[in-house]
Amino acid sequence: MKALVKSRDSRGLWLEDVKEPEIGINDVKIRVLKAGICGTDLHIYDWDDWAQKTIKVPLVIGHEFVGEIVEVGSNVSDFHRGELVSGEGHVVCGRCRNCLAGRRHLCAHTKGVGVNRPGAFAEYIVLPMTNIWKHDPKINREVAAIFDPFGNAVHTALSFPVLGEDVLITGAGPIGVMAAAVARHSGARHIVITDLNPYRLALAEKVGVTLAVDPRKTSLPDVQKKLGMHEGFDVGMEMSGSPVAFRDMLANMSHGAKIAMLGIPSSEMAIDWHRVIFSMLTLKGIYGREMYETWYKMTVMLESGLDISPVITHRFAYTDFEQGFEVMRSGNSGKVILNWQ
Ligand code: NAD
Ligand code: ZN
Repeated sequence: MKALVKSRDSRGLWLEDVKEPEIGINDVKIRVLKAGICGTDLHIYDWDDWAQKTIKVPLVIGHEFVGEIVEVGSNVSDFHRGELVSGEGHVVCGRCRNCLAGRRHLCAHTKGVGVNRPGAFAEYIVLPMTNIWKHDPKINREVAAIFDPFGNAVHTALSFPVLGEDVLITGAGPIGVMAAAVARHSGARHIVITDLNPYRLALAEKVGVTLAVDPRKTSLPDVQKKLGMHEGFDVGMEMSGSPVAFRDMLANMSHGAKIAMLGIPSSEMAIDWHRVIFSMLTLKGIYGREMYETWYKMTVMLESGLDISPVITHRFAYTDFEQGFEVMRSGNSGKVILNWQ
């Protein structure tokens, strides 16, 4: 089959013919229809320090996808040929304390699809049946292809109640923009999103934020004044990984505010802990999606009118993957989809 392979210990990604993955008795084999490019894929392409430490070449990469089941293992009775599905990108051990307690997203031995095991930038992918999420066949297939990052957005946005609250999101990347849409759907009052990139601020405006601001031009205290806010934001979602953005967020939260942190800083970052302590802030780290409550929430919010489709801005055939990676790298994109049909 054709696949995008990190086959060499250097910068780049290569379209190659590789063996189709073999299916075990508890597995499901899926023909990939569409896949999303993630920032992680970009790190692997660019072969940065993290990628060099983490990836064992050769590896088929990619983890955001939608596809159609073509075969199921002999133990599998809940899934059938022809069903439209996505895969949860973390394969968990099933035996650690958290897995046994049903908190699979907290597994101590999780393996990443397209990071630690073969991924979805391929004609076929095989996953354990416990990682399969079945879609309504009527779902928008591009939206289904990005359930993985949509899940990051939903996991973060629903970490703390937002009904009636003033929400600050730092970073209007695809995930920040989807989180803004979720906060709107969930009844937040003001939703302010920050970014330095005008393309992304414009994208955020399409999903109904109250204000999309470049903090270098409009400070957050000015934003608060403009909106008639007096005590700071109630809920923060850090989605930039930027220490500058995070410190700015901390300085503009209300006493007792809650912050969910998804953005991954590139190194250690110092903050004013007095702010956290004396304002009694709650900081919560977010990783992946809850298995499978986040998937359930994604599905039912789409069914009740949430629209995240504006975040998908580019589509390419898989053979043109270089263009897809290039537009991602430029920052002038939302989600980029590769077609595998
Ligand atoms: P992205 O890199 O596309 O978006 C980050 C955005 O932050 C960019 O648009 C960038 O311009 C903006 N930004 C940079 N500096 C800023 C500043 N000072 N103020 C405001 N905005 C600033 O990433 P994404 O795909 O949307 O993901 C968001 C973050 O979440 C990334 O850090 C990513 O690594 C991380 N992530 C975490 C998980 C997890 O499980 N924890 C999963 C996926 C992604
Ligand atoms: Zn486990």
